[in-house]
Amino acid sequence: TGPDPDLVAIAERMTTVKHKILVLSGKGGVGKSTFSAQLAFALAAMDFQVGLVDIDICGPSLPKMLGLEGQEMHKSNLGWSPVYVESNLGVVSMGFMLDHTDNAVIWKGPRKSGLIKQFLKEVYWGELDFLIVDTPPGTSDEHIEIVKSLEATRIDGAIIVTTPQQVSLTDVRKGVNFCKKIGVDVLGVVENMSGLCSPMTDFKFVKLIDDSSEQSDVTEWALEYMREKAPELLNLIACSEVFDSRGGGAAKMCTEMEVTFLGKVPLDPRLGKAADEGRSCFANGDCAVSAPALKKIIDKL
Ligand code: ADP
Repeated sequence: TGPDPDLVAIAERMTTVKHKILVLSGKGGVGKSTFSAQLAFALAAMDFQVGLVDIDICGPSLPKMLGLEGQEMHKSNLGWSPVYVESNLGVVSMGFMLDHTDNAVIWKGPRKSGLIKQFLKEVYWGELDFLIVDTPPGTSDEHIEIVKSLEATRIDGAIIVTTPQQVSLTDVRKGVNFCKKIGVDVLGVVENMSGLCSPMTDFKFVKLIDDSSEQSDVTEWALEYMREKAPELLNLIACSEVFDSRGGGAAKMCTEMEVTFLGKVPLDPRLGKAADEGRSCFANGDCAVSAPALKKIIDKL
C-alpha cells in the first residue's frame, strides 16, 4: 500500500504553515479556549498571519470568543475559507456549521475524525505564521486524530492549560504523558484562574445580615469611605486565592515532570467579559490584570 492520500493532502496544505501549536487541558472549564483565543489575538496584533482551528466538535466556543457567532464558512475553488476576524486572523470551527448555537452535536469517533481531517485537508489557509489548534478537554480520539493527521508535517508542540487545583493538575500529568507517548513536545504549562484579581473599584462590598444567606450592598458606602480616608486604596488591585495553592500548583508539577512552566493568569472578571463579548483583552488596556500576565507568557513562547 502507498502513503495515505489524506495525509499526503494534509501535508501539502500545511506546506504554507510555519508553526503549529496545540492547546490542551486535562479538564473542561479551565480556560483553554480563552487562552487559545487571546493567544490568537495577541499574535495577530503582532502582525503575524494566524489561523485558529477549533476541533472541540461537541462544544465549540471559539466563534463566540472571537466575536464571530452566527457566521458561516464558505467554499471557494481553493477550498473552504476560514471566517476572518481581521485579514490576518482566520478561524475554523464546527460552530460555523451548526445552524443554531443551542444545537448539540452528538457525534461518534469516526465522524469526528473525518471532520478533523477535513478541517486540515480542505481549508485554504494560505501563508500562515501560526496555526493554533484548540482541542477538547482530556486526551481522547480528537487528540490522537490531530497528531496522526499532522504526522507528515511538524507540530511545534503543545501548551497545556490548567488551574492550580489538584484535580486539574492530576489531569495535566496525564496530558504531559500523552504528549511524551505520542511524540509531541510540551511547550509549557499555563496556570489559569490563579487567584482572583480585580481593581478595588470593581468589587462589590457586602455586609452579611443575620446568617450568610442575606446580605446588604454597602459598595457606595465602602468606596466613599476609602475616597475620604485612604484614596490610594482605590488604585490597588485586590487579589484573593481561590484554590488552595499549598501544593505548589502548576509550577511545582512542572519541575517534577521536567516541563516548562509558562506562568500564571489570574481570574480576571474583565477577561471573562472580553471573552463573552468576543474581544481581545489586549486592545484598550481594559484587562489591567490579565493582559500583562498573558503577554508575559506569549513572549516566552
Ligand atoms: P475551557 O476551554 O478550558 O473549557 P473556557 O476557556 O471556555 O474553558 O473558560 C471557561 C469560562 O471561564 C469562560 O466563560 C471564560 O470566559 C472564563 N475564564 C477563563 N479564564 C478566565 C480568567 N482568567 N478570568 C476570567 N474568566 C475566565
